[in-house]
Amino acid sequence: MTVHNYSNICKECGGYCCKQGGSLATKLEVNRIIEAGYPNKFIEISENCYITDFGEDLVCPYLKESACEIYPVRPILCRKYPIFSTNGEEHYLVHCPLTQYLSEEDITQCIEIALEVPDDLFTCAQRFLAPFDSRIDERMRKFKMERIELE
Ligand code: SF4
Ligand code: SF4
Repeated sequence: MTVHNYSNICKECGGYCCKQGGSLATKLEVNRIIEAGYPNKFIEISENCYITDFGEDLVCPYLKESACEIYPVRPILCRKYPIFSTNGEEHYLVHCPLTQYLSEEDITQCIEIALEVPDDLFTCAQRFLAPFDSRIDERMRKFKMERIELE
């Protein structure tokens, strides 16, 4: 099973997780998205850290009709959802509408992906998104978040 099978649930939800400041990516990930033929909607923040050029509404520019238009090549930070991480050491399972349909295997897969996120992406995200923190936190609180320990 892949999260993709549940795209109808995400469409009904309206892509809520993609309305919290978009996503960040490494240079390699951005290049992969461009090479796959998608438009570059990232802005460079630092040498190996890019963020989707979201607007005042905090919505990722790749969200189209409540679906991700770059789904097959979306960045690692998106692939690990519903695991949300504030940094490399603090992780939560987000109980969004999709989570209840995920198997243990699916969650384990997302945890494994979360463990692969480069530390400098978290540092970069914290620095750049700081001015938006209160609005992002407000949106995050829509769903219950359960702290989990990753090994
Ligand atoms: S918050 Fe959950 S249900 Fe909603 S779009 Fe994101 S993954 Fe899908
Ligand atoms: S890249 Fe796709 S999955 Fe990631 S935040 Fe944007 S629309 Fe959502």
